[in-house]
Amino acid sequence: MKHCTSCLLPETHETITFDSNSKCSICQNFNFKQEKVNWKRKKTQLDKIISKFKGKYEYDCIVPFSGGKDSTWTLYYLIKNYNLKPLVISFDHGFFRPNLKENVKKLSRNLGFDMITFTPNWKVVQKLMLQSLLEKGDFCWHCHTGIFSYPMRVSVEKKIPLVFWGEPSAEYTSYYDYEDIEHVDETRFNRFVNLGINSEDMYEKLNRTVDIRDLLPYSFPTKKSLIEIGSHSVCLGSYIKWDVKKQVKIIEKEIGWSGDEVENVPKNYTYEKIECYMQGVRDYIKYLKRGYSRPTHLSSLDLRNKRISKKKALKNIKNFEGKKPHSLQIFLDFVGLSENEFNKIISEHIVSPHKFKKIKKYGNKLKDHNFWNKDGKMDKKESKKIIKFWKNQNEYRNQKSKSRYIKL
Ligand SMILES: [Zn+2]
Repeated sequence: MKHCTSCLLPETHETITFDSNSKCSICQNFNFKQEKVNWKRKKTQLDKIISKFKGKYEYDCIVPFSGGKDSTWTLYYLIKNYNLKPLVISFDHGFFRPNLKENVKKLSRNLGFDMITFTPNWKVVQKLMLQSLLEKGDFCWHCHTGIFSYPMRVSVEKKIPLVFWGEPSAEYTSYYDYEDIEHVDETRFNRFVNLGINSEDMYEKLNRTVDIRDLLPYSFPTKKSLIEIGSHSVCLGSYIKWDVKKQVKIIEKEIGWSGDEVENVPKNYTYEKIECYMQGVRDYIKYLKRGYSRPTHLSSLDLRNKRISKKKALKNIKNFEGKKPHSLQIFLDFVGLSENEFNKIISEHIVSPHKFKKIKKYGNKLKDHNFWNKDGKMDKKESKKIIKFWKNQNEYRNQKSKSRYIKL
């Protein structure tokens, strides 16, 4: 497999391209951010946006909030520097870890803000996870779409036009670069949030076994409704230089935010993706599909920032990647699959040139593992039905494309 000569990311990374020196597009974006972005000018733009919206609505803005380092920083920054009155919206994907809840409490007591937490129907979430795994080899459709859509729906309902997200995607991928301000709108939603499946598609894929209204929290508001409220939805990181390690230090010191271990990730990365107890499964799937996972990703960020040596990065990768997470069994119960069925599904989503390989060895078990809620398993009969319908649909589609081919 080809890897970036600077940051070691492999060619199976989403959106990656390489220049003639085998330097990747994400590294090129990064250099642009370091050298050419006029952050002073961007900050003035931010001042203007805020003065345009502040004090004119029920709330000054909406801050979608996961409790992770980025949304925590966003909230902290906006309240401390601009004294904004935000409405904080948290979408409960179902897998919040105990430490996350503690962090949220500390933050809200320290800063003071109103917050809405929305928890979608678990029975629907389970079906969405299985269907999304079958379709894309990624079970997080409900989370990707819910986190983005639900706060936007609230902004429309409550007529609060300004929405502040955290980091821009240029930090990790090259869907956008730092030259343009990344508007968090439907284009962005369809480009890389919803895996190419919208709610109506999902409704049909689930053979209409859920109520169409159950999918509303996952549907982006209509363009018309957003224009009507004068929606302005942007990432704070498009206006101020995003420096995760520095930001984490500040929120740790000022509000007592605390990091956590993540399954199969080196112990010094205790600030990333600590909000979800299914993260280990998510990273595991990435490894099975693309031949790399979070240790490579985190090391690539540190390499770009010149914080570690290549030798250290390679050691991280060797010691922590390619291990089975203890959360896997919990996940399999939630979606009614055996491990063999799971492996078979994943093997259909391999990103070339990586090849599927079964993994037996387990990684580290986290200290809060026993506190993760395991209620709400999916009945095997139910998952069998979903898989059967998916297979039939696929056969039908394949036949259709074959017959079209013959006709041509
Ligand atoms: Zn690179």
